[in-house]
Amino acid sequence: MSRIFSGIQPSGELHIGNYLGAVKNWVKLQHEHETIICIVDYHAITGTYDPEQLRTRRADMALSLLAAGIDPSVATLFVQSQVPQHTELAWILNTITPLGELERQTQFKEKSQRQESVNAGLLNYPVLQAADILLYRANLVPVGEDQIQHLELSRVVARRWNAAFGRGVDFFPEPQPSLAPTRRIMGLDGQAKMSKSMNNTIGLLEPKDEIWAKLRPAVTDPKRIKKSDPGTPEVCNIYHLHKAFSPPATVEHVAQQCSTAGWGCIDCKKVLLESMEKELVPIRHRAEEFRANRSAVDAALEAGASRCRTLANETMHGVRERMGFD
Ligand code: SF4
Repeated sequence: MSRIFSGIQPSGELHIGNYLGAVKNWVKLQHEHETIICIVDYHAITGTYDPEQLRTRRADMALSLLAAGIDPSVATLFVQSQVPQHTELAWILNTITPLGELERQTQFKEKSQRQESVNAGLLNYPVLQAADILLYRANLVPVGEDQIQHLELSRVVARRWNAAFGRGVDFFPEPQPSLAPTRRIMGLDGQAKMSKSMNNTIGLLEPKDEIWAKLRPAVTDPKRIKKSDPGTPEVCNIYHLHKAFSPPATVEHVAQQCSTAGWGCIDCKKVLLESMEKELVPIRHRAEEFRANRSAVDAALEAGASRCRTLANETMHGVRERMGFD
């Protein structure tokens, strides 16, 4: 059985972009592989942040993940800062990571251009990511397309460490990407990836009326100006949300009604809302149960951290011994 590792930033409650692009896939994978899900709070501090907000967002993320279907009886869910070996291994891996590789990372280039003063954490972010994965000697990492370059760096780092200290064996397996089945979800503005910073999201736990208030004005095919204008479903974000939430027969009906101007976009969005409700109502119910029983969330995180500390200790024992520290 492969071991899967995946991380998510503590950005508060999940939105449907996170859910469709990553979490829904983890919920499926947890029954097929040994699955470790990490709330990566050390990754969330490379910019300015508010400590109290970090606490709240971490707790909200944990609750959202459990409500979305991560099951602590089959998967391991934990918070990165509760397992100190992540930063210990990151320092070690820093010493074998070429600076040029880090400076070439697209995400670093984009983010550093937007900041007046760039901290070393932003540059070393992918090294901590490599440590997150290699600490558990994970074989598979579910990723979106924008994360493939970072995963490649983890593979480079694993190879370099194995060559220098592995004594002829691959102590660290080179993690393989497992591409998420859902294409990236665009925001309601139809312009950019769904993201909290762009204010174009639908929260996974939002009630039906609030979802409708956002769906109703959401951008569709710009060429459908009048109801009688036929549309092109493939260019419309609402159609892609139908593909994620509606049954195949409904998706077919949407494409047909759109391209023949058989209905207007509001009709189409009403059908989408009902499809979303079928999937989201049970998630909202589970969230309510966890809100009433926060100790169950804390217990899941503590059990996850305890297991991960044991796994991390085993890895670090081998690392320290091979590198001359034990
Ligand atoms: S009918 Fe539906 S798929 Fe077609 S443009 Fe309108 S919202 Fe998009």
